[in-house]
Amino acid sequence: MKQKKSIVAVILFVAIFLMFSFSAQALDGRISYSTTTITTPNGTPVTAYYTTEDYSEEEKANSRRTYEERFPGIEFLADPTPRYNCHSYAWYMSSSTNSYWIESIDAYIDDPTYMVTTTPAEGDIIVYFKPDNVPNHSGVIDEVLSGTSNGVCGDANLYMVVSKWSGNALYRHRGDYCPFVREYTGASTYVKYYHMHVYTYTNIDIYTHTLNCRCMEPMEELHNWVQIGIGALFRCSVCGYRSNFTPATPENVPIETWSQLMAKAAMTNGVTFTLDDIDFCYMNGQYYIVTEYTSDVVITPNVME
Ligand SMILES: [Zn+2]
Ligand SMILES: [Zn+2]
Repeated sequence: MKQKKSIVAVILFVAIFLMFSFSAQALDGRISYSTTTITTPNGTPVTAYYTTEDYSEEEKANSRRTYEERFPGIEFLADPTPRYNCHSYAWYMSSSTNSYWIESIDAYIDDPTYMVTTTPAEGDIIVYFKPDNVPNHSGVIDEVLSGTSNGVCGDANLYMVVSKWSGNALYRHRGDYCPFVREYTGASTYVKYYHMHVYTYTNIDIYTHTLNCRCMEPMEELHNWVQIGIGALFRCSVCGYRSNFTPATPENVPIETWSQLMAKAAMTNGVTFTLDDIDFCYMNGQYYIVTEYTSDVVITPNVME
């Protein structure tokens, strides 16, 4: 009799477990979704799924019980919901108010805004892959731990991760300690880490801007001038700095300066220089007089809204 009871308990547990253990990308068939399109930071369209439905309190409690009993020590952060999944949380918006479910992260992985890194830092992304190289789960690195790799999904145990467990809750867990790795009956056997460049531009002057991201040393670069409108206004397509460019002619340049200008060797497009206190820029066979205009237009091309 006792044995029968425990068999019933096991069957019940398995049933509840199966109900919530749909694979990382699969939409919950009990929920109706509408389709929409979002974009990667660089503008590549990505299909996303949207729903206003949610699980009942009982379903949420069952889901939590299942995983929190199976993985003691994981930290619960936000309720189970079918509204967003792991990929969306890691790649689109790391918030429990996120309302998009993303099935494929291929467009994100191919977006040049991201680079693969083997030394991820807090805020970088961890992706769990199946042996056939298909992504199975994504999370955000929350803390870099010390120690050595235990070999479970590579060195995933060296990182604390925040990730949404498909339709289940959002948890903080050690990278190797989740239902998506093979050692815990998941499908993933290795991980990769991705860093998203978030650039800021400092020390902007008439010639250069300094490029900054937390992954690298600050780098001084020439502006990348692009003409805007039909006037003499140019804007750096990278940092947003604007300048007035007036074509240099014998009429608007002192004669000695003009002869120095004409004696100059061929230059690279976009090169800026000063002659006799006049700022010049060379572009497409033409010298321009550059007048400082404004640095208050800042483009942040790869920062998500
Ligand atoms: Zn970077
Ligand atoms: Zn610039």
